[in-house]
Amino acid sequence: MGSRVSGTVAEGPGGRYALWLQGCRLRCPGCCNPHFLDPAAGEEVEVAALVREILAAGGEIEGVTLLGGEPFDQAAGAAALCREVREAGLSVMVFSGHTLEELRAREDAGVAELLAATDLLVDGRYDRSRPERARRWVGSENQRFHFLTGRYAPGVERAAPGELERVVEVRLGAGGRAFVNGWPEGDWT
Ligand code: SF4
Repeated sequence: MGSRVSGTVAEGPGGRYALWLQGCRLRCPGCCNPHFLDPAAGEEVEVAALVREILAAGGEIEGVTLLGGEPFDQAAGAAALCREVREAGLSVMVFSGHTLEELRAREDAGVAELLAATDLLVDGRYDRSRPERARRWVGSENQRFHFLTGRYAPGVERAAPGELERVVEVRLGAGGRAFVNGWPEGDWT
């Protein structure tokens, strides 16, 4: 695991628990999360411990968002987590640098399980030549929203009147290091 935030409004619909999984084999120029690329970095956390932590957030969140890094590089563990939180009534949103077609073409049971446990998938590599200016949460125009269940409907990615199009959150950790989320362009940390 790369990092986690127990309550954010910058990574999907409503209040969410956000989990950045460590490791990504893709190398999109301008990647906004280069510190999550090395699979050997980060820390190992048991799925059960994460589920307990997420459920402890109780009514404060409506769902969980997995980002990275690449969540599908740890698909089986991520799927186990997502199944459990969905059984508790939470929604699941996943960001992947791979397209849905690429994921479905893989012969990997874990990948299929994670797709089956996902309500809302955002797919595709980050393309810094096509910055997104209209839709929320995504970095570039090529990235697509896939509504894999009926939990969310097309249009959720666009701000309603009175809502902010982009929310950026800054947290200061130990030693004064800043953790920035909600801004998918370039590395701010
Ligand atoms: S898929 Fe995401 S984490 Fe991986 S290199 Fe591209 S922008 Fe970075």
